[in-house]
Amino acid sequence: MLQVEVGTRRTVVEGIDPPRLRQLLATADDPDVATAAGQLQAAGLLWTAPPDDPDPRRVPPRPWLAAELAALTLRYGEQAATRLADRARCVVAVHGHSKTAAHLAALLATSGVGRVMLNAEATARLDTAVPGGARPADEGRPLPAVAAEAVQRAAPGTDTSALPFGERPDLVVLATDEPVEPEQRDALHARGCAHLLVQLGAGFGVVGPLVLPGLTSCLGCVDRHRQDRDAAWPALAVQFAQRQRAALPVGAALATIAAGVAALQALAHLDGEASPAIEGTLELHPPDWRLRRRSWPVHPSCGCT
Ligand SMILES: [Zn+2]
Repeated sequence: MLQVEVGTRRTVVEGIDPPRLRQLLATADDPDVATAAGQLQAAGLLWTAPPDDPDPRRVPPRPWLAAELAALTLRYGEQAATRLADRARCVVAVHGHSKTAAHLAALLATSGVGRVMLNAEATARLDTAVPGGARPADEGRPLPAVAAEAVQRAAPGTDTSALPFGERPDLVVLATDEPVEPEQRDALHARGCAHLLVQLGAGFGVVGPLVLPGLTSCLGCVDRHRQDRDAAWPALAVQFAQRQRAALPVGAALATIAAGVAALQALAHLDGEASPAIEGTLELHPPDWRLRRRSWPVHPSCGCT
């Protein structure tokens, strides 16, 4: 009996011992072997190795992506190199000056996203320094430049240049700890720009929703649902919108997890997968170790879809 295991998928093959299997694999023209190989290939458990002289577009010349390629191989089999090459053509714009912002930009770049830039009219603050993102020594420097350096440290050669006016990124990540301004939401909808929110609050982190304008519920829907549950929400939202003077009470470990979860959801979207952050938020409230999903369906009075 043999157990074949690829990632989370596994199957048990009975009635064959390893020496016999090796013998069969050596005789590739055996019709039974060809049938079995075809079935394994269809199940995504077997794929053809890339050629010895690979097309440079299939395997990017970035050695740190080897583990990323291996991880994608578990999911996509022989399509993995193509998926990684697709990521290299993706553009993600991170907006905001949260503790997660520069770190998230670096995570996306090190995962193979080819162009990542941070847009924020803010300087780096000591209390938003986090490993992988802005460093304590960056205090007072413009955050976009600090983020570009974090990206280069994580993934040298990543394009961090701003997009020309009118060009749309594949995804905007709103890494902001204040409520998103209605004008900014409207602008993202008007451009048909997919956007993912990641927010840190007092002792918690929230990732989502991921908004696909016109197709899914939006940030306005979330506000309307909140208002339905709590009539005081608009007044509270205004208070939250006042820029924090003191440090937000969120530790580096929580901020790091929030950035990681947001990066996973961003990558899922770029890879063409359905993210659980669509019409939902993924919320972490320590010391609870579980990531909980909260659903935010389209609000009947929003009109966004
Ligand atoms: Zn809506």
